[in-house]
Order: sequence, then structure tokens, then C-alpha cells
Amino acid sequence: MSLRSATAPKDAAAIILLRHDTDPLNPEVFLIKRSEKLAFLGGFYAFPGGQFDPADTEVNVEGCSDRDSAAAISCAARELFEELGVLAAQGSETLTKGQRASLFDDLESGRMSWPGLLNHYGLHLHANDFTFVGRWVTPPFSVRRFDTWFFLYKCPAKQEPRVIQGELESGEWTHAEEASERWQRSEILAVPPTLHALKTLSKGINADLVDRFLSNPHAHGEPARRIEFQPNYICFPVRTPTKPPATHTNCYLIYTSRQILVIDPGSPYEDEQQALAASIDELRREGRTVGEIVLTHMHPDHVGGVNALRQHLGPEVKVAAHRLTAEPLSGAIRVDRLIEEGELIALSGSPSIVLSAMHTPGHARGHLCFYEERTGTLISGDNIVGLGSVLIDPPEGNMRDYLESLRRMRSLPNLSVIFGGHGPAIANPYKKLDEYISHRLKREQKILEAVTDGAQTPEEIVARVYTDVAPAAHAMAERAVLAHLEKLIQDGTINHDGQAWRIA
Ligand SMILES: [Zn+2]
Repeated sequence: MSLRSATAPKDAAAIILLRHDTDPLNPEVFLIKRSEKLAFLGGFYAFPGGQFDPADTEVNVEGCSDRDSAAAISCAARELFEELGVLAAQGSETLTKGQRASLFDDLESGRMSWPGLLNHYGLHLHANDFTFVGRWVTPPFSVRRFDTWFFLYKCPAKQEPRVIQGELESGEWTHAEEASERWQRSEILAVPPTLHALKTLSKGINADLVDRFLSNPHAHGEPARRIEFQPNYICFPVRTPTKPPATHTNCYLIYTSRQILVIDPGSPYEDEQQALAASIDELRREGRTVGEIVLTHMHPDHVGGVNALRQHLGPEVKVAAHRLTAEPLSGAIRVDRLIEEGELIALSGSPSIVLSAMHTPGHARGHLCFYEERTGTLISGDNIVGLGSVLIDPPEGNMRDYLESLRRMRSLPNLSVIFGGHGPAIANPYKKLDEYISHRLKREQKILEAVTDGAQTPEEIVARVYTDVAPAAHAMAERAVLAHLEKLIQDGTINHDGQAWRIA
């Protein structure tokens, strides 16, 4: 797959399902929680929806002459049926619950296609039932990107949505206002279009509802730059020369009523530096000052915009990092303050935000992560990322340290979200950490087997072990193998007698 096709947004549609006869002053929507098993936005709260299916375009949507809109409505209705069992078609009111269940089986088993099923039972979709409330595009920091059409739809009186196992963990009727308050208390995570819908609906269903939905500039297909998955933590992806498949590095702006902390302004590109500066200025205009610029580690895609940002903000703004980050950067970036393991960084103002610094080497010697206990938030830098894999490249990289760092992160109490250096936020932190640890241990086991079988060079080991990795990535895989071999030597599991690797 080329990078271009990997990052182009795919068409998708979602339904904001309103409860039948809901109170217009305090409307209820059906909010789902995505399964923690999902690689993309696992554990996030959202609305039912998904990608277009080619057959969606074969459905004739009454009252709709535009092909794209018709396909989007058809997709949204199909996803609603597949995920929650609600059939949003006219004519379905005459079906019994049992009949709808057998239609569901026909569709899921593949006995009938979506257009075939609607035709066969004399059902039809009508555009008037679906109110278009915006089109949101995933920002380019994710490899999985969607151009999602959102529709409001009122749940028919006789149908009750229920979560069908698979991609969803749970779902329930929730007052939009209550859900946005839960987000505000950092109890749930949501992507910007979900949050916007909840906030818009919480102001009530009235004549200007659709205008309010569409008044957000990002409701028209222009990806958002600032992504606030959780209150007071803005993820601001900036384009960087980073490791594919990533194309961006996440800069984080953590703010209170009075202060802003900037983590990893990584872009060396002027247009990106200006966009970041403009976003920080917006927060400053509301009465905040920038406390510090903090660096997770020394890699160029995390520090490339530090000097430009300092120049923009003024010399009084300090740069802080671990000593083992400051040293290799000396001469290029001045680090004014060193951060030690266990140090607390408290922002003034409200809410109370206190980050505790963790020295977590492995990817880089001076790598820092930041943990906030109140909300269970971990800023993980490149130790855990929302897309792609983490390179452990000796001598800067060290596999033994890395695994130890992963275990330390795993032992943090009540982790609720990980904000990584690349890609979307991770709402299933323990599961992700377990995956990272077991992935490395499985690789280590295979490398050990390859050594036992007589493989002698990192190239030979890569050829035997990294069978799932494209040849183009083999040079990087060799670095990782080297890191594993070093760990195995440190562990005393293998040794090298000057000629060959042997099991100790
Ligand atoms: Zn890095």
C-alpha cells in the first residue's frame, strides 16, 4: 500500500440516534463505547457508523437526487442496523421484532445484500428522515482516516437499539448534556465531532439546531488542527520529517485558566510553526502565559520547532528536559532546566494539573513521560504511539531499558488515557501496554530460537524472524534485532564468543 492511499480519508457515515419522543430541552442520544479491542479509537465513546460499502450506492434513497448524499444515507442506515439492530427504513413499522431479527440474520450471514434486503421486503429509505449535520475529516496524524457524514435520525417508536457484539462494547441512551459533562470531568474520551454533537444537542432541539451543528468550521470537511480528546489537553499534530507511516508529531498544549505547558513542538517547517504559534496565542489571549516548553526526548521530529517557538514567545520562556536529552542537543537547542525522575510539574490556575515526570529510557536515553494522577493521563512521547511501531535503535535505544520502562508505565494506577507522540489518543491504555510488552517478548523468543538454530548475523535473524515485515523495513528491523541481542547478553541468556552467538 502506498503512503498516499494509506492516508487518504475513506468515506464513512454515522448516525446520531435520538430517542423517540425525547424531551427537546434535554434530548437523549444513543451513545456507544467502542470495543477496547479495536486498533482505531478503541475505548472511545462515539455514535454508530462506519465505512461505505460498495453496495450502499445501489440503494435508491427517496427525496435525494445527489448520489453521494444517497450513498451516505444508505451507509448510515446500514451501519445503524448492523450495530444496533435499528432499521431506519420506511415500511419497517409493519415488521415484528422477530421479522426484523430474521432480516438482520439475512444481512449478517450474507444471504441478502443491503439493497437486496430493502427491495425484497418493500422497504425504502427517505432523505427527509435523515438530517445532515456535518462532514468531519480525520486529521492527517492518523493512517486510518475517514471523511464522515453525520446524520440525525429519530429512533422509531417500536424499535429499541441494542448493542450487537463485535466492534461495540456497550451503548445506552444518554442525555447529551450529561455525556458532555462526563467528558468535562475526564470520565469519557471522544473525538471532536462526537463532542461537538453532544454539546450542540445539550443546548436543546430547536429551530436553529442544524445551523448550530454546521456553524463549526470543521463540520465542512476541513480537518481540525486542535484536538481536545480530553479537557485541558490539546493535541496539536504538526507535520514533521518522521518515521513512516507517521507524517506528523503530536505537540501537546496542556492548559489551565492561567498557564500553558507546551510539550514537543517538533516541526521544522515554518508554516507548521506558525500554525502552532497562532494556536498558542489564542490560549494566551484568554489570559494565560506559557510556563515552559518541555521535551520528551531528543529526536529531531520532537524538537524541530523549539527554537522558533521560543523566539515567538520571548526569551523568558524556558525549555526543560532530562539531562540525557539536554546533552546531545547542546549547541543546537539550549535547555534551561533539567527535569529529574519523580519531579512534579504543577501548573497554576484551574483545574489543578500536576504532572509527574518519569524517566523512561529505551527509545532514547533521556526519554521522559508525564503522568497526571487526577485524570489518569499519561503523555508517553515515543514510548507508546497511536500508530506505527516504536524503533529501538542502539546505542541510543536499549531494549532492556525499554521493557523496564513499559512495565513501569503498566504499573501506574488508574491509567485512563495515553497521549502518544504520534497518532490518536489511546483509550485502552493497559491493553495497549500489554500488547507492546508481549509483542517484544514474542520477538525476543523468536530471535532466541533463530540463534539456537544457528543464525549468526542480524540479517539472518531478520530473514527468519521478521517474515511479517516488508523488505524495505529490514534495515530498521536489524537495529531492533541488535537491541534484542544486547538485551539477551545483558540478561545472561546468550553470549558472543567473538565468532558466534550462543545460548549461555
Ligand atoms: Zn523518537
